[in-house]
Amino acid sequence: MDVRHRPHTGRAPGVNPPARRKVIIVGGVAGGASCAARLRRLDEDAEILMVERGPYVSYANCGLPYHIGGVIPKESSLLVASEQVFREQFAIDVRTGCEAVAIAPRARTVDLRNVATGEVTTESYDALVLAPGAVSIHPPLPGIDLPGIFHVRTVPDARAIREWIERGTSFLTGMFNYSGIQAIKPLRRAVVVGGGFIGLEMAENLVHLGFDVTLVEMLDQVLAPLDREFARIVEAHLVRHGVHLALSDGVAAFAQREGGVLEVQTKGGKAYPADLVILALGVRPDTALARAAGLALGERGGIRVDEQMRTSDPHIFAVGDAVEVKDVVTGRWSLLALAGPANRQGRVAADVIAGRDARFRGTQGTAIVGLFGGAAAWTGVNEKTLQKLGNTDCEKIYLFPNSHAGYYPGAKPLELKVLFRKSDGCLLGAQALGLDAPAVDKRISALAMAIQMGATIYDLEEAELCYAPQFGSAKDPVNFAGMVAADVLRGDMPLAHWTATNGTFLLDVREPVELAVGSVPGAVNIPLGQLRARLGELPRNRDIHVICRSGQRAYMATRVLMHAGLRARVLSGGMMSRAMLVVTEDTTASHPGWSPAPAPPAPAPQTR
Ligand SMILES: Cc1cc2nc3c(=O)[nH]c(=O)nc-3n(C[C@H](O)[C@H](O)[C@H](O)COP(=O)(O)OP(=O)(O)OC[C@H]3O[C@@H](n4cnc5c(N)ncnc54)[C@H](O)[C@@H]3O)c2cc1C
Repeated sequence: MDVRHRPHTGRAPGVNPPARRKVIIVGGVAGGASCAARLRRLDEDAEILMVERGPYVSYANCGLPYHIGGVIPKESSLLVASEQVFREQFAIDVRTGCEAVAIAPRARTVDLRNVATGEVTTESYDALVLAPGAVSIHPPLPGIDLPGIFHVRTVPDARAIREWIERGTSFLTGMFNYSGIQAIKPLRRAVVVGGGFIGLEMAENLVHLGFDVTLVEMLDQVLAPLDREFARIVEAHLVRHGVHLALSDGVAAFAQREGGVLEVQTKGGKAYPADLVILALGVRPDTALARAAGLALGERGGIRVDEQMRTSDPHIFAVGDAVEVKDVVTGRWSLLALAGPANRQGRVAADVIAGRDARFRGTQGTAIVGLFGGAAAWTGVNEKTLQKLGNTDCEKIYLFPNSHAGYYPGAKPLELKVLFRKSDGCLLGAQALGLDAPAVDKRISALAMAIQMGATIYDLEEAELCYAPQFGSAKDPVNFAGMVAADVLRGDMPLAHWTATNGTFLLDVREPVELAVGSVPGAVNIPLGQLRARLGELPRNRDIHVICRSGQRAYMATRVLMHAGLRARVLSGGMMSRAMLVVTEDTTASHPGWSPAPAPPAPAPQTR
């Protein structure tokens, strides 16, 4: 039955039903589909029309890199809810291949174009929800539209990439069969342009498919939301798994060489040959419709909405990648292309349209990316943003706890950085890396919730989290972070950082055998067990910065020194955080937290 003519239900015969509210939703994936389904659950009578330009609604674009890599073999697995489900279970009129091309806010109508036929029809609405998502950045560079260069945004994009890869493979297989020289398998080369999470996911999947992958990134680091020292660890991890990195270099042009091979030419004068190029240069909000309709846009170029996802027109709502959102930590407007916020915003818009007083709380950019078995995750603000904002009321700690109790097999170290306000201990941000990906996820997810609830580091001390030895520790890394940070703020553990050790007395309290692994030039070694007996060897008139492996023994030593009236500080994160600084300078160095793997040969670009 055509849902537009669905009979009203649950009303006494003879009673005239109130006019049905008509809601049109533009965009049928994360934000749009969430909004549509939620609205139906709240309002059985509303007439809901969801239009989607592409061929599918409600598909999992987050799974696309893994479908290309073969981890998700079937394309159909990506289709979370079909058109049919929306029609039959939700009584929603879904039209795929249908593009909203113009809005008339005063008349409250939308023009819809049938993508196949070009026919345009006009539909009126009581409420309109814009969920058009974002557009992949596609700069007008020479050769950017050559065959073999792809974006990864939609199911058809993924299909095209898979077909391109398979075509190359079958061509080569045929050649092997013909020549019989199976051993000479030509190396397939891929260039991924862009070091954000989609670029990195694509790089990993292409490595798994046997490609020799070069990742070109204009910034001097991958994963911009991470602070540089953490990004360096990720970069070293990528390099160890065969990805060639070309940082601080932007793409200038693409060319096609003899035999159809592509060439990615950079501003730095390098040229990387490629059989496949993936463009992952980021996205910008799709505001074309909103702009043409005269809706207000924000300072970052997204659609401006209030806490109820209402645009500057009270009958039009907007959600997802297309809107600007308030960053809950910095209080600034930001653009964020993430599925969680898009889904939540879709629900908020539905609630408000259904007459509820829902509000979107803002976002803090919580995200995670899996990388060759490990993971990098973050939430809230990073240190470089705080520095850019001139915020000096903040402190950071580094911790290197085990992913679960060290005595239970399989524990792996985590790298954890937590930022908090000095004046009141309010949590500001956190970053975590580790080869135990679920453990990274667990800690950043817990800290993300804490940040959203406005928690302090003192709350982290008290947090009651799951514990059994295979999952965590009685003092979970989240508790541990709270305890360390609270010790700092209570003055029990004065803190120092490796970037500010000039002119200080460096005291290393590790055992002599540990110095063989790595030592600090100029540091005096007095093992913790001997410290009380050798206090006389330490200066009374200088700051003493205390070093151990990760900070724990340095803390105990610092307490001993403070009780003895000496000016002592713990070097945050000890030798483990010092190793991060070494990695920051040298991308081929490894950090103890990430498993070593043989380093591949350096990239071999050709100079133009
Ligand atoms: C490869 C990839 C991997 C990702 N991985 C993650 C991840 O791991 N975690 C995470 O949080 N986020 C991830 N994201 C981001 C996440 O998918 C988006 O943030 C989210 O989908 C945004 O939801 P949205 O509803 O705003 O837009 P979309 O989900 O992009 O949906 C917008 C839809 O609107 C349609 N549309 C646009 N204009 C019109 C029009 N005029 N008429 C009709 N239809 C229109 C488009 O065709 C599109 O289908 C990933 C994205 C990609 C591309």
